[in-house]
Amino acid sequence: MTVVVKIGGARAVDPEGALADVASLVAEGEDVVLTHGGSTAVDETLEELGEEPTYVETPGGVVGRFTDERTMDVFKMVMPGKLNTDLVESLHNEGVNAVGLSGTDGKLLEGKRKSAVRVKEDGKKKIKRGDHSGTIESVNADLLETVLAGGYTPVVSVPVLGREKEGGYTAVNADADRAAAAIAGALGADLVVLTDVSGIYEDPDDESTKIDAASTPDEFEAVKAAAEGFMTKKVMAAEEALEGGASSVIVATANADEPITSALAGEGTTLEPGVLADEDAAETAQGATE
Ligand code: ADP
Repeated sequence: MTVVVKIGGARAVDPEGALADVASLVAEGEDVVLTHGGSTAVDETLEELGEEPTYVETPGGVVGRFTDERTMDVFKMVMPGKLNTDLVESLHNEGVNAVGLSGTDGKLLEGKRKSAVRVKEDGKKKIKRGDHSGTIESVNADLLETVLAGGYTPVVSVPVLGREKEGGYTAVNADADRAAAAIAGALGADLVVLTDVSGIYEDPDDESTKIDAASTPDEFEAVKAAAEGFMTKKVMAAEEALEGGASSVIVATANADEPITSALAGEGTTLEPGVLADEDAAETAQGATE
């Protein structure tokens, strides 16, 4: 069994329990790929450097970071720099032989660079240029499998390798949940998304309304309707993971003892491939035979 674990980047997420759990799973012989976010840390570093993080809203109402050149530099320093190294260091202290990889290493995560984005500013639609972001189109699963087969535990962070229209590559930002989703899809793995809430709640403010599982398109509609703000992106990422071939996606809390083992045992919100509409499921089945 292969498990892809994504540790959230919110301030309220403590990775300690997850790292100890990665160590137990690895000791039991499971293949674990750890991925992480870190948006809060990027914002904090930008502020320490006297710069303002920029967020933009798409015409569809989705809020995301605008990654100008300077932000991209800070992003490189923080994500595959400090955050990834800290996780690798902690895993070594747990007895795990961890290897840090950015999406650019060995073309682990590759896609098209999107240098201009459509935004809504003061109620007006505009095109904003100079963005360093991209959509992941391919995963070098072979690289991860080679690293895993060597007995190492990969710790993957964005950026990803973005192809320029005129040729060449630029390291670009991509959503960490979607990066984790692409990896889980490519490996046909279970994806455990650890965050600061126990799962997806019917009422986002009421933990007692947690949705335990969804395995049909109708049940998935209820999950989509419940998710607000950042959780919307996680649900989109979960759908991409399942479409790509992941065997399940579980959204669960990071702030627990053995959060991964508990998530795999059904503690969070478990989404199964059955949530995909028939045409998606058919595509996935077709994709699997190609
Ligand atoms: P991370 O940084 O761990 O990736 P995010 O901050 O992106 O996590 O997403 C988790 C947040 O999503 C929660 O802290 C919560 O405020 C919000 N959220 C929105 N809708 C829901 C929902 N239906 N159930 C649970 N949390 C929700």
